[in-house]
Amino acid sequence: MSDLAVPHTLTTWGPRRLPVPYAAHWSGEGRYGQRVSMRPDLAGIWYLDETPADRDAFGVLWARIQNTPGQGRPDFPSMHPGRQRRAQAERLCQVCGERASHNRDGWLFLMNDDGSDRYEGTKVTKPPVCLRCAALAVEYCPHLTHPVGVRSRRPKVWGVFGTLFTPGPNARLNAHVDEYLPYGHRATEWFLASQLVVELKRCTAVDLDAEFEALTP
Ligand SMILES: [Zn+2]
Repeated sequence: MSDLAVPHTLTTWGPRRLPVPYAAHWSGEGRYGQRVSMRPDLAGIWYLDETPADRDAFGVLWARIQNTPGQGRPDFPSMHPGRQRRAQAERLCQVCGERASHNRDGWLFLMNDDGSDRYEGTKVTKPPVCLRCAALAVEYCPHLTHPVGVRSRRPKVWGVFGTLFTPGPNARLNAHVDEYLPYGHRATEWFLASQLVVELKRCTAVDLDAEFEALTP
């Protein structure tokens, strides 16, 4: 595949003009409002100044991060909770924020090939991509060491990724290592989500090079 020019509509960073994904977190996007704390009824966590917008339709509390892309430096490996969630839920390309690629085999997701060839039921935090951005990601993204394209006819919202808290002494909260939590789990009241998790159903592995051919004039 010939080198692809980075479209002017994409935000870039540094002298190498690295494309900065729509869903990437920027260092200038800090927390806002009150920190998470134990509820007075001791039955879970909340924000003292919580509003309905802090929880999703499943009642899960979400991390509060300002939405000001372009502030500071791009933090390529980490994703902004709000933009990641929107891209996953609305099937937007995680790189350009436009509609992700969709054909008769479904929506296009990029992942690293783990050699298993088994993608059915894979749970992903990385939102889908459009074809042009898939080509850019394969070229520029250092984390995609063995890129493979998978199309899913039914990407199903599965749950969240984030931090489980447990109550400690003196109303203190213990934060655990980040993990996945399915929607409807009994630990929901103690969980702070930072990413929306989608389960890939009815999957087909795709020939990326063949699909990229369509991009070259
Ligand atoms: Zn795109």
